[in-house]
Amino acid sequence: MQHVSDRLSYNPCAFKIPAGDIMPTLMQRGVVALLFGASTLSAQPAIAQTASLTGPVPVAEQPASSPPEYVRAGKLLDVRSGKLLDNQIIVIRGQRIDRVGPASEQPIPAGAKVVDLSQATVLPGLIDCHTHIMLADTDNSHYEEYLLKDSYQYRTILATLNVKRDLDAGFTAMRDVETEGAMYSDVDVRNAINQGLIPGPRLKVATRGISSTGGYELEGYAPQVKVPSGVQLVDGPYEARKAVREQFNYGADLIKMYGNDRYRFLPNGKILSVANFSFEEVQAIVDEARLKGLKVACHAYDGPGLHYCIDAGVASIEHGIQLDDEAIHKMVVKGTYLVPTLQVYCCALEKGDLIMSGGKTSRVAIHEASFKKALAAGVKIAFGTDAGSFPHGTQAIEFGWMTRYGMSPLDAIRAATINAADLLGWADDIGALEPGKYADLIAVDGNVLSDIKQLEHVKFVMKGGEVVRNDYVK
Ligand SMILES: [Zn+2]
Repeated sequence: MQHVSDRLSYNPCAFKIPAGDIMPTLMQRGVVALLFGASTLSAQPAIAQTASLTGPVPVAEQPASSPPEYVRAGKLLDVRSGKLLDNQIIVIRGQRIDRVGPASEQPIPAGAKVVDLSQATVLPGLIDCHTHIMLADTDNSHYEEYLLKDSYQYRTILATLNVKRDLDAGFTAMRDVETEGAMYSDVDVRNAINQGLIPGPRLKVATRGISSTGGYELEGYAPQVKVPSGVQLVDGPYEARKAVREQFNYGADLIKMYGNDRYRFLPNGKILSVANFSFEEVQAIVDEARLKGLKVACHAYDGPGLHYCIDAGVASIEHGIQLDDEAIHKMVVKGTYLVPTLQVYCCALEKGDLIMSGGKTSRVAIHEASFKKALAAGVKIAFGTDAGSFPHGTQAIEFGWMTRYGMSPLDAIRAATINAADLLGWADDIGALEPGKYADLIAVDGNVLSDIKQLEHVKFVMKGGEVVRNDYVK
């Protein structure tokens, strides 16, 4: 019964790929190119020269000497100051912002390329720190189908649709926190986006995720039946370090781990989670990741599984639905981010929770109280949604939950811009409309500070100076 509603953040798969089947990176690029058409490949001569694909830098930045482009913003949200500025001009050279200032001080030369958003409110592109591009609107029963029936190739095709939906909805960057059984397919999607083969947000990808034996496996099968797992299962510090090294080798930008997974409701209405790892094992994961320059995202609800992750120095706690006072204090002191993912608990899983708790409580109620305490204490919060557990492209609904639970609209937007960029390690490149940063921006009607719901209806998206969507042009 527990497994029915316990599959929120799902695991990757344990199908073993022989080392010899892992193609060299350039071969993989070629395969991706063939998948999406050889003509696309021939139109992208820079592909073979791309050295690094892990950063937010798309392949060939246009030379800064190309003519600037101008965006006329009726209103512009300065996420740092919190001010909504009138009549601004954003000057873009190549893929980056050159200047931002009042229209009165930024004359636009005759014949210049201008994007007219004078009727709109412009703000930085949104960043979702908790997505699963390899899941498409799944539920618990469908999750098993992904692991047992769908090929990596089919799931990768679905992922290309998912990232397009996310980008069109205004999410110009995302941190994808494990493939849920699709091995390293997220690396290919990231690379294809970076090479300009398919549209999508800038991605940081976690590849397989890490848990331990019994911690995030398909449940209910007889012991003699070997079923795949959504995650890479490791036991002991040795295997933990080896998994991090392997994921780093195959292209992971961060490490995702499960501090705990299984839980049950107690008579007092609280939950009790089972820790997946010893502190020694968590330390091994975090330390090895640190040596590789990778941050660690830890799925954890409560108890030792949560505390071990905070103590070991993970960058973020995912969900954190029952944070105790000590955990909150430590997160504030250490600067650990909370990525709350409110929407998915609220609406996807409440029914199962109510059954499990005998109708007394649910993770939603526990989560709300925990989020409010963390917010009041000053825990750093980054926007994340678990998109994939519900349809990609709809995750801006999370803003409504954040504000309903007490966050100001401005702080909710900051969570999805400057805070999220910081958590991703891209604070210098994205998250604000400032000179030197990528021209990743969106536009909506009205005033987002008084009507946060406008973010569910993004009408304009630009990524790296290229218009992805413009509903203002009829
Ligand atoms: Zn998740």
